Amino acid sequence: EKGEKMDASVSRILVFVRLRPMGKKEKENGSRCCVKILNKRDVYLTEFTNENDYLRLKRLRVRHFTFDSSFPETTTQQEVYSTTTGDLVGAVLEGRNGSVFCYGATGAGKTYTMLGTMENPGVMVLAIKDLFAKVRQRSLDGNHLVHLSYLEVYNETVRDLLSPGRPLILREDKQGTVAAGLTQYRAYSTDEVMALLQRGNQNRTTEPTRCNETSSRSHAILQVIVEYKTRDASMNIISRVGKLSLIDLAGSERALATDQRTLRSLEGANINRSLLALSSCINALVEGKKHIPFRNSKLTQLLKDSLGGSCNTVMIANISPSSQSFGETQNTLHWADRAK
Ligand code: ADP
Ligand code: MG
Repeated sequence: EKGEKMDASVSRILVFVRLRPMGKKEKENGSRCCVKILNKRDVYLTEFTNENDYLRLKRLRVRHFTFDSSFPETTTQQEVYSTTTGDLVGAVLEGRNGSVFCYGATGAGKTYTMLGTMENPGVMVLAIKDLFAKVRQRSLDGNHLVHLSYLEVYNETVRDLLSPGRPLILREDKQGTVAAGLTQYRAYSTDEVMALLQRGNQNRTTEPTRCNETSSRSHAILQVIVEYKTRDASMNIISRVGKLSLIDLAGSERALATDQRTLRSLEGANINRSLLALSSCINALVEGKKHIPFRNSKLTQLLKDSLGGSCNTVMIANISPSSQSFGETQNTLHWADRAK
């Protein structure tokens, strides 16, 4: 088909934007809306330089971006899941790896999109629900094993969110990078998963000063591994494995401020090495470079077998509508634009 005729060396990354609704506090303190999404594709960002401009509705410097799909604030969790991740779940059953990222500033809606709430579960939960539904639909011989791992990268340290303890050591093997001792939770149904992930999320590292809030520098990765086993005509066991990685990235606010600096000069600075390394890998993939610098961070090492090549890669850029977040929103949209 069309996709297969494309230059195989250039990886296509699907890029989506999700605008969250204005929060209660933002409404109360008089925040204005500076983002508009039209036709499910076009994103318009406007800057009001002062109150008079706003009152006269004189829009200054309107910026326009377009993505594979853009989700206005009324979009449901199910719609976001179906459009961005549904196909990847089907592909994982065929043994094809994939990854879905939520990128954006702190407060932009990444965790809501990935994990969601009990009432409105997000991509992680809906993906597992859909996976089990698809497995049930298949009337094949053989059986499917579904394993979940949930881990965190914080300050270049990898931790198991399902069984918190000492940092995990990464080892390279033929298939990719393995975190030694990582819990592989055998999942049988969707019902147990939401509670499991909520608990895991509570194990994410928190900033010392605000102990109830997840640190903006923590990346959470859910790995869904599906193994399909059957026997061929001569009764040999055939097994096929697919892996889907769903990633709630650290807040992008600090990384972008230092975008121009090299990774080496960042040691000790309060920025996120893994997030920068991911940006470098994505840029290299989009530009069709032969060498992809996976080894530069823990996050990119972990995602080596799930990013680029024949893997499906999806980026969801989360943005806030508030004029107070104008700068961050602009940075996020530019970043997402470069990932296309
Ligand atoms: P992040 O993880 O990017 O820091 P959160 O996902 O925690 O941001 O979102 C910040 C706040 O906005 C939370 O209170 C969350 O419930 C709310 N929120 C985010 N996206 C949506 C949405 N699409 N619909 C309703 N509330 C949302
Ligand atoms: Mg979050």
